[in-house]
This record gives sequence, C-alpha cells and structure tokens, in this order.
Amino acid sequence: MSDADAPQPGAPPDGPRVVSTGGDRSDGIVRCERCGASEASLNVATGMLRCGFCRYEWRTENALVTFDLDGAIGELSGVVVGSGTADVTADPSVTLRCTACGADVVIDTTAGVQARCHWCRHTLSLTEQVPNGAVPDMLLPFRVPKADAVTRVAEFVGKRTFFAHPRFRAEFTPENVMGVYLPYMVVDVNAHARVAGEGEHQTRSYTVQVRNSEGETRSERRYDADVYDVRRAFDVHVDDLTVESSAERLDRDTERTSNNVINTILPFDVENGVRYDPRYLQGFTSERRDVDVDALRGAVHQQVGDIARWRADETIDHYDRGVRWDSTDVDVHGERWVSAYLPVWLYSYLEEKKDGSTLLHYVAVNGRTGETMGSIPLNKGRLALVAGVVEAFALVAAVVLWVLM
Ligand SMILES: [Zn+2]
Ligand SMILES: [Zn+2]
Repeated sequence: MSDADAPQPGAPPDGPRVVSTGGDRSDGIVRCERCGASEASLNVATGMLRCGFCRYEWRTENALVTFDLDGAIGELSGVVVGSGTADVTADPSVTLRCTACGADVVIDTTAGVQARCHWCRHTLSLTEQVPNGAVPDMLLPFRVPKADAVTRVAEFVGKRTFFAHPRFRAEFTPENVMGVYLPYMVVDVNAHARVAGEGEHQTRSYTVQVRNSEGETRSERRYDADVYDVRRAFDVHVDDLTVESSAERLDRDTERTSNNVINTILPFDVENGVRYDPRYLQGFTSERRDVDVDALRGAVHQQVGDIARWRADETIDHYDRGVRWDSTDVDVHGERWVSAYLPVWLYSYLEEKKDGSTLLHYVAVNGRTGETMGSIPLNKGRLALVAGVVEAFALVAAVVLWVLM
C-alpha cells in the first residue's frame, strides 16, 4: 500500500491527502540569513532573492521536489493537494503582529501580502497559509526584466498601430506595464481513457461513366470503403496542466473583458517553481485565488478527455477516410493539485465606448518566456475599409478564376 492510499489522521476517509507546504514559518518578519534585515526582493537577472541591505543573494528550494509533489503520475491514486489549495473561506484581511515591536498591522490580502509596520518600519510578510487564497504552494519568479517587457509590448502594439483606435495610440505608454503574479492551479492527472467511434478505410477508387436524362455522359469518381467500429483504451498521464483560479480571469464574457489572452501566453515552466516566499512579491502585485479545487475539477477532467481524443487520433492512420469519435470515457485514478503564482507582465487599457460601456484590453507578456499576446481597441473605420478591400480582392479573384476556367 502506498502513502497515497493510507488513511490520514484527521482526514475524512475519502478526503484528499493534504501535503503541507506552509512549513513551520509563522507570519511576521522574514529575515535575511546573513544580516537579519527584513527587506529582500527578487533579482530578476539571477532568479535569486537579494537582501536589501547587505546584498546577500540566495536561492530558495524547488517547490515540487521539496514537497514530493512531482512523483510518477502513473502511481498517483486518490486526490493529493498542496495545503495552499485549501478552499477559500476566510476574510481577506489578516492581522499580523510585528515581532520586533509588538504592534498589530492589518494586511488586506486582496491588495498584497506585505506591509510595513507603522511603528518600527520593519517589513511584515504573510507566510502562513490562512485560507483566504493569498498564499499559494509555490511561485514561479519573474525572469523577463521590465525593460524587456516594455520592448515586447511596444513591438506588439507597433505592428498593429494602423488598426488601433486613435485614442489608444495617443495614450499608449508601454512603460506602464505592471508585473503581476496571477493565481493558477497546476494539476497532474492519472487516468484511463476509452474512446469509441466509427472509422472508414478506403478499399478501391475508380471512375464510372454516367448518363443523365438528356443522354449526355460524364465520368464520375467512385470510392469503396470499409466501415469499422473503432475503439481505443489507454492510460493518460497529464503533467502540469495549468488552470486559472481567479473568478475574474475565468470570466469569458468578451463584452466586458479580453481576459482570455492570458491563456494564449502559456505554457509556463512550472517544474521550476520555488517554494512560496512573500519576498518574491516585492515590487510586483499579486492576485488572490478565489476559486477552489472542486469548482475547477469538471473543467480539468474535460481537458483530460480532449487530450485523450488527440492521443487517440495519433493511432488511426489506417482509417484514411477519418474517424468520428462518438464517446469518450475517462476514469480518473489519481490527481494532484498545487496552487501557484505565475508571473505575467500586463499592459492594460480600459476602452470607453460611445454607448458608455467599457471593455478592458490587455497586452500580456509571459514573465518567464517573453511570449506576448494581447488585444487592442480597434479603429472600426479602418477595419471596415480593409475588410472592404479584401472583399473587392476576393471578387476580382473570383472573376479571374471564372475567366480562366
Ligand atoms: Zn542581509
Ligand atoms: Zn514593528
């Protein structure tokens, strides 16, 4: 019997196995190992934390390795979760006691996880995993420096200037790009999939002469095919699926927001995530997770089904006339959930429309790979003009083709 099957003390019989990622740290002052200062931040160039006073730099542990959350997916059984994935139930504001002077300082975790003690000016950090979604299991530090992000945003918009709304063009200031840690769930799934459908394999093709009612003959191509019931059953191991876990980001209403661009800058190298340390957030903002595992599970299992169909498609070469999959069944044997902050540079722009409504646009830069995608407010007039030209071209092309026939 493996660890994963063993009943955990205090856990409900069928509940998830919780891996504690919070450690023994308590909230308050997190000090430099060398000089004891409470201020440190990420040095993007090295990926290490750097003390604000003595400049000492150190690397923090790889999260998945440290917490043994990267074991073989084929051996996963039941539900394993990092303690940072706990359901969000608590009040987002948290009171921290300054361990230097004893003052109580309230942090609003919707705005950040650090505050300065207003008496002794020490930096206080929230490191304990209060179930308010602000402290994840792990974090992937920024690797793309701000200057690089500014260049990429400027290039992205530059290529689209012609179609951009004049007001957007006038107000465009790429230097306003902001580094944000967005909340994600990183999910591994061990499943068995069964897909079934109907496939056709061509056996013969030939030409016949057919005569119509007026007695004219013409040739017609005919195909013979065998029809098969096609079934595939196999194990699926899904590694590091990343799922957004902010209700606002999951909002796919394109009337109000162009959020879905965030998904187009995936993937992130989540295997390099480090153990959560609030000092990585210094100088960046972060968005609190407000969606729980149970709310995301259905969408994750559906993605596993999609992946299973893609893999099944790789095995159907024999059916040269195609396969239509009619059913996909996925039995999930094990799943592992880890909450993470992933780094994104965001340039946002709120478009105010003539009817008074607003639409939020983003240009997003993956804080690890530099992959850039976005949406910009469009100049409808120019777009219509170009669409008109394209149509005219299509018309000309059709006429030319017709003449050539
Ligand atoms: Zn120091
Ligand atoms: Zn204090």
